[in-house]
Amino acid sequence: MSKHPSSERTLVIIKPDGIQRSLIGEIISRYERIGLKLTAVKMLVPTADMIERHYTLDPEWRMKTGLKSIKGYTDKGLKPPSTDPLKVTEKILKVLVKYMTSGPVVAMIWQGAHAVQIVRKITGGTEPLTSDVGTIRGDYVLDSYSMSDADGRAIRNVIHASGSVNEAEDEIKHWFKENEINNYKIVSEQIIYNSDLDGILE
Ligand code: GDP
Ligand code: MG
Repeated sequence: MSKHPSSERTLVIIKPDGIQRSLIGEIISRYERIGLKLTAVKMLVPTADMIERHYTLDPEWRMKTGLKSIKGYTDKGLKPPSTDPLKVTEKILKVLVKYMTSGPVVAMIWQGAHAVQIVRKITGGTEPLTSDVGTIRGDYVLDSYSMSDADGRAIRNVIHASGSVNEAEDEIKHWFKENEINNYKIVSEQIIYNSDLDGILE
């Protein structure tokens, strides 16, 4: 039997700038209020190795990110730092490691129907300059690739959120041990998911 959609999980990391901007509560409340369930949470200062492995869990990530970044430059009529996608990614990864190891982060697992897609929708697009208003990145950050690239640093976008169900499962294994994840019910799940509405009226 296939799993019910309500069992879908995603990994969210509040990045060091999110902690420094005192956005932990605000970010958690955004995911909480839509009806998702927090099943694991911890604060830690990641090691460089953890971050490098996190971004390269998908063996295609280096190539995809390099190509996307080169396209970003050429679409704006700018010259990319290199025409070799892997060289472009190497630079991105280096500054990402510096950013993500600069202070504590909060790693979390959120569970619920369409958790991956819903969290990405609430979080907003990767580049805050173009993230929709009303999303977390759109409301709280004003960074852009042009500014962060010119300043030789990673784009500050306060959150990491898994991009697909498979990526989420790989990332959850990378950040959490099985015994750190809580299996429990919240009462609101009854009204969100159950087809049986008995028990409301007295
Ligand atoms: P996310 O899933 O929305 O975080 O985006 P990706 O998985 O595509 O990229 C991960 C991280 O790599 C982003 O948070 C950025 O820090 C960095 N990154 C991705 N694409 C680009 C790009 O085109 N240019 C630059 N400078 N950094 C990028
Ligand atoms: Mg991603």
